[in-house]
Formats: sequence, C-alpha cells, structure tokens
Amino acid sequence: MKQLFKPWLVARFSSHHHSSNSTALKIGFIGLGNMGAPMAGNLAVKGFSVMGFDASQARYPEHSSKGLKMVSSVSEMFPQANLIFTMLPNSQIVKKLCEETLFPNLAKDSIIIDSSTISPLVAKELSEKANSKGLHYVDAPVSGGVPAATGGTLTFMVGTEDIKLFERIEKILQAMGKIIFKCGSPGSGQIAKMCNNLSLAIQMVSVAEALSLGKSLGINLETLTNVMKVSTARCWSIDTYNPVPGIMPGVPSSRNYENGFACELMLKDLNISKEVCKNIGKEPILGQKTIEMYEELVKNGLSKKDFSVVFDYIEKTKPKK
Ligand code: NAD
Repeated sequence: MKQLFKPWLVARFSSHHHSSNSTALKIGFIGLGNMGAPMAGNLAVKGFSVMGFDASQARYPEHSSKGLKMVSSVSEMFPQANLIFTMLPNSQIVKKLCEETLFPNLAKDSIIIDSSTISPLVAKELSEKANSKGLHYVDAPVSGGVPAATGGTLTFMVGTEDIKLFERIEKILQAMGKIIFKCGSPGSGQIAKMCNNLSLAIQMVSVAEALSLGKSLGINLETLTNVMKVSTARCWSIDTYNPVPGIMPGVPSSRNYENGFACELMLKDLNISKEVCKNIGKEPILGQKTIEMYEELVKNGLSKKDFSVVFDYIEKTKPKK
C-alpha cells in the first residue's frame, strides 16, 4: 500500500495546483484511438494545452471539437512540445517513433510518457536510450479500458524511481486517472501490467472450463457461481465479470460479448509475456496453453469479442459423446 497514491491526495493536489502547472507543459499526444482520444480529451478539458497527432486523420474533426490542436505530422509538435504522450498499438510502433522521430528532435529534458501496453524489455531499453540523449522516457501503462479512459478514472502503473520526474508528470496522470502506482525502475510499470493480464487470462479460462464442466453435469450455473464466489476459487472473473450469459447484468457476457476487452488485445498482451519469457530463459506453462486458446478464438472469428467469450467457445466446441 506504500506505493499507492490515495485518491483524496490526488483530488487535493489537482484542485490547488493544476492551473499553474498546465501552462508550463506543452503536451503532444500521439495515438488518438479508442483509449488515446478520451484521454487527450480529458487533458484538454482540464486546461492543458494539447497538440494531437494520429496516423489516421479520419477522426480529426471530432478531436478538434474537444479542444485538441490537431497537427498533420509529429514534426509540427517540435519545438513547442516538451511532453509527449503516446497511446499506440504495440512495441514496434512505439520503438520506431521514439528512435526515429522523438529522440533526435525533442529539446533536452523533454519527457515522453508511454501508456501503450508494450514489452517491459523495450520500455527499459527506450528509457536508457532517452537518458543517454538527455531526455526522459517513462512507461505508464493503464488499466480500466475505454470506460475509465472516458471517465478519467484510469489506473496508471508508472515505471520510474526518479521522484523529481514523477512530480513533474503526476498532475498530467491525475487529469486522466484515479489511482497512480509507482512500480519501481524503468519497465516496471509494463511488468505490472503484463503480469496482471497473464494471470487474468489464465483465470478466465479456468473459470470458463470449470463452469462448462458444471453445466455438462447438470448443476445450475447461478448456484455454482454463488458457491465459487465465496469459496477458494473466487476471483474477478467469477464475481465481477462472469463469462456466463445472464448471470450478471452489465458485463460483456450479457450483451453477446460485445464492447469489452477484445480477444485480440488479450492475445497481444499474452504474447508480450511469452516473448519476455523467451528472452530471460523462462517457460510459460499455463500461459502457453492460454495463448493457444486465444489464438484459436481469434482464428474462429472471435477476435473483437470480449475475452470472456472463451466460456461460450468451450460450450460450443466441447466434444459430444
Ligand atoms: P486503437 O487501435 O484504438 O488506437 C491506436 C491508435 O494509434 C489508432 O488511432 C492508430 O491510427 C494510431 N496509430 C497507429 N500507428 C501510429 C503511428 N505510427 N503514429 C501515430 N498514430 C498511430 O487502440 P487502443 O484501444 O486505443 O489501445 C492503445 C494502446 O492501449 C494499446 O497498446 C493497448 O494494448 C492499450 N490498452 C488498451 C485498452 C483497451 O481497453 N482498449 C486498455 C488498456 C490498454
């Protein structure tokens, strides 16, 4: 709990200090997709000066209407921008942008905050490269998904032990999030995100398998859920995000597995842990099985469905005698 910044502290700081700080920072926000657009919008609403760039200009009018100053290339952000925020699809894209565009062009002492979910090894490498050029790179991945990005209630997992640097970026993160964890050295924010999602995916598959077995044997699944909710298999996938349609209102399983955390994104996160394991000579055991499961789901046209659809998949594909 020592690492946790209490919400009341966050609220106090933001109301007293944020207007004076918002003028000093000129933010460039790169990657205005499902997550980046509402996050950048929250920064603009809270008084920060934000320039925006995305590889696709399709949503530019919408971004401009939220108060972002949209530019047609990243280079238009230089030299004004002294803080670059990135919310991009994967490690390769973040690495290329940093090495080819940001590192050579940003003024000394500028800060890059990357909230994409990428490999912790890449994050650590980028932090070292940034330091060698007199710049700062901080990994700050998020959890909470699109609803939390929209509501400004994301959880940030921040990889820095540099207190001065953390203080410089804290108010920006507070404008988009509710809980901010200091996870340790560079890359540790991504380690936290990766480990959480590895465990979550395995738990979801385990819950789906158990509930499906129970169903085959004829127990009522609401009853089985109620038992497991207060027994030793209790976890988020059973008590908050149940994968069985109709057991819980408001979760993806009760709306045909739409508008949740897509199988393809979970697979992306699982593959990060696999790649990291390979790099350090560890072997993912259930991680490997879980990757195979989600690969199968993606191949069967379920890539955009919520990752709890694994229950439905097991139900429909289970061998019949
Ligand atoms: P998204 O695909 O909606 O958005 C990515 C945006 O980046 C797109 O608008 C795309 O045009 C843009 N882009 C791609 N390459 C670019 C480049 N070279 N320069 C500029 N723009 C570029 O994805 P998203 O759902 O917003 O996710 C972004 C990141 O956040 C991912 O790393 C994802 O894993 C992570 N994340 C997503 C969620 C979620 O629920 N969606 C939750 C937590 C973390």
